[in-house]
Amino acid sequence: MPLWTCEQCGAQFPESREPPASCLICEEERQFVNWKGQRWLNREEFAKAHRLVWGDDLGLPGIAVEPGFAIAQRALLVREPDGCVLWDCVPLVTPEAVEYVKSLGGLKAIAVSHPHFYGAVADWSEAFGGVPIYLHADDRQWVTRPHPAIVFWQGEGHRLSDDIALVRTGGHFAGATILHWRAGAEGRGALLTGDVAMVAMDRRSLSFMYSYPNLIPLNAKSVEGIAAAVAPLAFDRIYGGWWGRNIAAGARAAFDASVRRYLAAISDRPQRR
Ligand SMILES: [Zn+2]
Ligand SMILES: [Zn+2]
Repeated sequence: MPLWTCEQCGAQFPESREPPASCLICEEERQFVNWKGQRWLNREEFAKAHRLVWGDDLGLPGIAVEPGFAIAQRALLVREPDGCVLWDCVPLVTPEAVEYVKSLGGLKAIAVSHPHFYGAVADWSEAFGGVPIYLHADDRQWVTRPHPAIVFWQGEGHRLSDDIALVRTGGHFAGATILHWRAGAEGRGALLTGDVAMVAMDRRSLSFMYSYPNLIPLNAKSVEGIAAAVAPLAFDRIYGGWWGRNIAAGARAAFDASVRRYLAAISDRPQRR
């Protein structure tokens, strides 16, 4: 039986003879249904019309679907001696991409910032012998394809290795998560944020939205919560969720200034930036 992928958002759904009636990610207020109506691709059709490409993005290997599909994010690979952590995911797996990741030492774990980037996590896990997929338990309701490799972690943090920790920030989703890579940026530390903290187009600042396509901002309390979660972390670089959407250096100051700018922008009272 075919496995179905939502053409608008890239969420993968379980095997069924007919495609699902609707996509719960697209129906929800943070996303939107395709203007032409809900559309589905089965996995084989999808793989015929698309491929995965990879390359360096500011020192980290990234992977994305080509031609651009759904949200068009790129996943990242954080390499360690015992294998890579796949951070965020894409909606497709190909044998060529699996070979490429094997050449980097294979996968030891998958972790995803939030439900818009779950993509084909189950397929990626299966391609590497069922490696664990770390998703925050507070976003459990948004998992469109349940899978035994999914590990629902709880609370505010979850360590994957000496140098890699998942940190829950909340905001965009209740379980929204960033990855802190202590060894990143030549030892100065890096954050991988998806769009939980969105690197803006100037690549010197960030923003924090509940919905990006529908332009729904977060309130002050949520952004202060993100800032509090990030406060103890040492980092100089931020990797966003798309090719080149990174803050190469000085990211701690950029993050703090962005929080102040955001709070000033939504405040009724004049504030100093
Ligand atoms: Zn969808
Ligand atoms: Zn999102």
